[in-house]
Amino acid sequence: MINIELNKRQDRILQIVKQDGPITGEKIAEQLNLTRATLRPDLAILTMAGYLDARPRVGYFYTGKSSTQLLSQSIKKFVVRDFQSLPVVVHEDITTYDAICTMFLEDVGTLFVTNHDNHLVGVCSRKDLLRASMGGQNIHELPVHVFMSRMPNISVCYPDDLLLYAAKLLIEKEIDSLPVVNKVDQHFEVTGRITKTTITKAFVSLIEGE
Ligand code: ADP
Repeated sequence: MINIELNKRQDRILQIVKQDGPITGEKIAEQLNLTRATLRPDLAILTMAGYLDARPRVGYFYTGKSSTQLLSQSIKKFVVRDFQSLPVVVHEDITTYDAICTMFLEDVGTLFVTNHDNHLVGVCSRKDLLRASMGGQNIHELPVHVFMSRMPNISVCYPDDLLLYAAKLLIEKEIDSLPVVNKVDQHFEVTGRITKTTITKAFVSLIEGE
């Protein structure tokens, strides 16, 4: 993860390498009147963040990448599996009333709906439940599968997908969450969930370098 806020010394190192690179760690230390050991953490940070590259026997050189390039490079390393949270899954036969209770108790905005074989069959959102409750039907009887959004029209993502792909899908489809799935035969098993909150957290972790 990169931290785009460099300290004064790291900035100085960057200037030196830009000007005199390739340059060894010792030479940089000499210019700064510091020991090589003192510089080691700064050089490690600059190298890990992608500003500098190091070649054995040659020394450090400037990669020439702007912080925007480095930032987009790190965003492209974000993968769904590292950010997904636990899914809340309900059976397709549960009633509207029970779905509402589950949503409150589990504190989520979307329920993923499965059948007896644990295959994903649908998605139920807050507004789906509001709509079902407004229809004048008995919410203690009306099962969730009647009004949920259903397969094959469910947008999903895989653990190996880029988080950026998932974020784009949320925007494009105008939805709040995606089930993370594994494909087993021709069916999906739900293993996680990506929501708008996931994307917000990833955004903050990028800036704060967590
Ligand atoms: P809300 O309806 O509470 O605003 P969403 O924007 O997520 O929440 O849902 C909008 C509609 O899209 C709902 O009818 C919901 O069932 C459906 N939906 C939600 N997530 C998905 C998904 N991953 N794939 C397909 N449809 C979805």
